[in-house]
Amino acid sequence: VARNPGEEEFHQAVREVLENLGPVVDKHADLADAEILRRLCEPERQIIFRVPWADDDGRPQLNRGFRVEFSSALGPYKGGLRFHPSVYLGIVKFLGFEQIFKNSLTGLAIGGAKGGSDFDPKGRSDAEVMRFCQSFMTELHRHLGEHTDVPAGDTGVGQREIGYLFGQYKRLTNRYESGVLTGKGLTWGGSRVRTEATGYGLVFFVDEILRASGNSFEGRKVVVSGSGNVAVHAIQKVHQLGGRVIACSDSAGYVVDEDGIDLDLLRDVKEERRGRVSDYAEERGGNARFVQDWPIWSVPCDVALPCATQNELDEAGAKQLAGNGCGVVAEGANMPTTPDAIRLLREAGVTFAPGKAANAGGVATSALEMQQNAARDTWTFEHTEEKLAGIMHSVHERCLETAEEYGSPGDYVAGANIGGFLRVADAMAALGLV
Ligand code: NDP
Repeated sequence: VARNPGEEEFHQAVREVLENLGPVVDKHADLADAEILRRLCEPERQIIFRVPWADDDGRPQLNRGFRVEFSSALGPYKGGLRFHPSVYLGIVKFLGFEQIFKNSLTGLAIGGAKGGSDFDPKGRSDAEVMRFCQSFMTELHRHLGEHTDVPAGDTGVGQREIGYLFGQYKRLTNRYESGVLTGKGLTWGGSRVRTEATGYGLVFFVDEILRASGNSFEGRKVVVSGSGNVAVHAIQKVHQLGGRVIACSDSAGYVVDEDGIDLDLLRDVKEERRGRVSDYAEERGGNARFVQDWPIWSVPCDVALPCATQNELDEAGAKQLAGNGCGVVAEGANMPTTPDAIRLLREAGVTFAPGKAANAGGVATSALEMQQNAARDTWTFEHTEEKLAGIMHSVHERCLETAEEYGSPGDYVAGANIGGFLRVADAMAALGLV
């Protein structure tokens, strides 16, 4: 804490991992060694830079850019870029730290990183977003490369932003290096299923949980927070598997639609028109109603999927979910559940799946995009989705087997933290003091 003052989210993320490593100290003192842990908590490299750009009226604007290259023990640095006014070093470090273990859990050869800016794309024109992305990449490009560091999207960074970033990288380096960014469009090096992957992967993971106890999504009521990339594709997959999503949200409030969210309408409002969930409720009519409040957890459901942002599900929300009979909470967002809420859910017997495991499908499919780029190949939707489902199945197995082996059967938090840690610590020990 003294070494990283004021970085609250980073402290929270580190504490959660370290708290789970007790059983590893007993079994593998060589890996849970203080020196390895100390290095693991210190990023290999942190880049903070000025991003000057001009708005549509020609006025100069200034933002701050970040890239935290946390660990390359398992492969090139890999992790998304977030553009949101709340971004500061503590957020980027928490996300980068989480990413190390998530990427390790996928079993793929990718290290951990994260980046972004306090730039707010909301209300900005395409031309402004392009100028910002070009300025951001003008500094960042010297640190990237398909074998070095491969960013992707995150909150506020979708295909439009990845396009502008990739265009500027290509121009500055005079290289069509497709593998340097993931989340690209299909005509310029992207992978099928990448856009859908985090939301789909989350629902595949919950499906594994339900099946492990002989259940399924069929007829279950689901609440999803957020209405961005992860949320929309989680809603789509829940509906495909026979469940019914009855509520979703944005930062202004939530919509309850007991007939089931109309995904076509939601996508039209959010993706085509960049509108709000209140517009959805108004246009949907019937039983749909908008509630101008936050968060969403008072809506009774069987499964809750927090897919918006960090610390959005606190103790009060957890109490409401457990009290209303919710059986599973699985994190689509990164660290959306506070430590107190996690404790409460587990004490109440609610199965809890942490984001490190449950939302790993996005980065896993990014690694599949890198594989296709390296082979100059493109896979079909069905083949790529099958690979994603297979990866989520193996992440689920790894969590359960590790939890069992280390004395906490059925505990997905312990399984994810220990399972992710072991692979990266083993590589760090082998690579020596670097
Ligand atoms: P988007 O920007 O597409 O959507 C974010 C959604 O969450 C929006 O509905 C937004 O509402 C809402 N939201 C964001 N911040 C806040 C806030 N402070 N308070 C209330 N609502 C908020 O992001 P993604 O769907 O890509 O990402 C969502 C989460 O999933 C993040 O935690 C991200 O790190 C994580 N994640 C994303 C992956 C991906 O592949 N995209 C991969 C793994 C994890 P509004 O529009 O009103 O701001």
